[in-house]
Formats: sequence, C-alpha cells, structure tokens
Amino acid sequence: MMYRRVFLVAVLALIVSALPLSAMAAPPQQDGGEDYVVQSGDTLAELADRFYGDAQAYPAIVEATNQMAATDDSYTAITDAGSIEVGQKLYIPSAEEAAAMSESGMSGMSDTSMEAAMPDVAPVPETAYGPPIDPEKGYFVEEIGDGLYWLTEGVYTLIFLTTGEGVIVVDAPPSIGENILNAIAEVTDEPITHVIYSHSHADHIGAAGLYPEDAAYIAQAETAAQLDRSLNDPDRLMPFGVASGGAPVAPPTVTFDDKYTLEVGDQVLELEYRGVNHEPGNIYVYAPKQKTLMLVDIVFPGWSPFKDLALAEEIPGYIQAHDEALSFDFDTFIGGHLGRPGTREDVETQKEYMLDIQANGAQAIQTVDFFAIAQDVGFANPWLLFDTYFDALAQECSDLTEPEWVDRLGGVDVFTIDHCLKMIESLRLD
Ligand SMILES: [Zn+2]
Repeated sequence: MMYRRVFLVAVLALIVSALPLSAMAAPPQQDGGEDYVVQSGDTLAELADRFYGDAQAYPAIVEATNQMAATDDSYTAITDAGSIEVGQKLYIPSAEEAAAMSESGMSGMSDTSMEAAMPDVAPVPETAYGPPIDPEKGYFVEEIGDGLYWLTEGVYTLIFLTTGEGVIVVDAPPSIGENILNAIAEVTDEPITHVIYSHSHADHIGAAGLYPEDAAYIAQAETAAQLDRSLNDPDRLMPFGVASGGAPVAPPTVTFDDKYTLEVGDQVLELEYRGVNHEPGNIYVYAPKQKTLMLVDIVFPGWSPFKDLALAEEIPGYIQAHDEALSFDFDTFIGGHLGRPGTREDVETQKEYMLDIQANGAQAIQTVDFFAIAQDVGFANPWLLFDTYFDALAQECSDLTEPEWVDRLGGVDVFTIDHCLKMIESLRLD
C-alpha cells in the first residue's frame, strides 16, 4: 500500500506539471466535460491519453467521476484505478476542469496523505520525466539493446539481460515486486539464472526472494558482509527487508573484491568495486556490448539526488563516484531511481550540481559569522547554538545554489538545503 501511495504521488506530480493550472478551483461543471461509457478494452490511462493526450492524467477522470457519483447514482465511484468495468459510466472533465481540480486537491481520491504531499513547490522540468506508465500494468519495460532491458514503476529502476541460457537480473526493488517477473516474462521465456545485488539496501533488493532459489546470487564482498549482519542479527527489531515492503533475501553465493566478469551465453556483464560511496560494496555494473552502466543511488537522471546526498555514507567517495562513472564508455545510464534512463550528460550535469554545492558550502563556511550568531543565541545551550549556526550555513549554501538549478533538475527546491548541510558537515570533518 505504501508503494501504491508513492506511485500515486509521483503520478500526481506528473499531472500537475502536465496540465495548465487555472486560477479557479472548482468542482466539475457539466459544460466542458462529457459522460463516457466504458467499452471493452478501455483503461483509464488510454482514456486520459485519448482525451488529454497524456496517459498520466487519468486521476482527473477518477476525481471527476467520483464527484459525480456522490450526487448521481448513475455513476459508480472508482475505488481502484486499475479496474473499471465495461458499461460503467464515467465523467471525463475538460482539460480546464481537470486543471481546476488538481488545483483544489484530489479529494475524490480520499487520501489525505496525497494532499499533504502537495506543498507549494517549483515546477519539475519536463526533462525529469520518463515514459508514461500504464496504471493497469504498473510498470514500463523497454529494451536498451542486444537483449538488455530496463524496467521501472516510476520511482525505482533496474536492468535485466537475456543471454540465450537464462536471465541475469540486477536488483529487486520491492516497489516493483512481482512485476519484475511479469516484465521479464513479457519479453523472454528464459528462466532467471543469475541475480546481482548492486548493494545491500533493502529498498533495492528486498524482493529478491521472488527469484529462483537455485540461481547464482552475486555481490561484492562488503555487500555480502553487510547482508550477513542484516540477515542474521537476532537483535534486529524487524527482519531485513520488511520495512521496505520486501522480505529477507538469499545471501550471495558468489562474492568478489574488485572485479568480476560474468559471462553467460553470448552476454557479458563487468562488475567493479571502486571503494565506498553511497555505502561500502556499491558496485558499477557495466554492459560493454550495450554501452550501459548501472550505478545505484549516486546519479538521479533529471532530478536532484534523494535527500542528504542520497544518504551517502562517504561524501568524498560519493562525489568521486561521478568521475568513476564517467570513466566507463557508456551511452545509457541506469541510476536505480525515478522514471527514465540517463545519459553521459545526466551524469555530467549532476556532477556540476554537486561541485556547485561543494563550492557554495565552502563559501558559506567562510562568510557566515559564527560569533554574530553566538551573540544572539548565547552559549548556555551549545546544541541550540550549533543547530542555529549549521542551519544558517545550509541556508546560505542553498540560497547560492538553488536559483541556478531549480529549472534544470527536478526537486532542487526540495532537497538542496539537505545536500548543503550534509556537504558542509563533510567539508568540516573529512
Ligand atoms: Zn541504497
């Protein structure tokens, strides 16, 4: 359920960016929209595509139909956007009505968390978004080339490779879950024979229990050690994976330290470890024939990294990872997150953003006056003093950075201040 919300929130963000926002917030009027009776084969995404030219705009139809259903029982409220019935009467609002509804909040979706997730934020650049995802399928899968595929549900991404002798799959995000198997079955009859863990985090591998027990499970030695602690610690409050929507996973059966070349059938993947970045054991997965590099939780194509430099454990290593990535000869980049693959340019762009944050963090350390703050706050509560000081540093760094980037990457206004604080801590300590 949690992931359904994440998905819906992502979809909602897409609608808000895709539709022109009217200044008026109003319920649907009968004048602009129209009734529609569901035909065989219809999906909400197809209807949204037909009426608005945007499959992702389907919640407007849900919202409008549910509003009509509240006062007119010839309509049936839509409680599950994945299942509409032939013969069911829907109300298709005009594009203007849809925009007005998105302005007034999607109350018909009756999910207060969705409204709470809609603060006043900068528009997300169109370049941040990937292909539309059919809500009935819940995923999008596409061949990169030569039997290598990428897969997303809109928030997480992974790759799998057909070899002629079995499928190699990298990672298993629980938010995609069973749809990983559905996507693989959509393009090949080959069984999964090899599973690679990019790193140990449960949000990326916690659905690996869906894969065959007799597959080879491959990870860097640090990842294997971390998983050993996570899977076998009797004092854990929750089993590994459960809090991310998954389950405990198979421990690696093959481990390596620096490099591992996996050759299956006519395919090759080169796995490399180049030191701690996001976490110890996080590897570069390189497909030379397809010129594709997968590196998870470092670069977020089209977007700011996730909060706090994507929770990096080692900040200098995290920054360095951008150059390490660029040292591979790749055209396609898979970052493990959000709805589209990246390019070399995406990696270069994020590197530039990171270097700006680094420079602006250093400048803030030079210009923000600790003793002026101490005069205001006093020394009686040192934690309050340092908290005020660090907030001022992060604010200064963010004020310098955000205006330059808010039009270039999605979510810059959401996370820059968190990146600044984390970077400033690293500039002081590392
Ligand atoms: Zn991670």
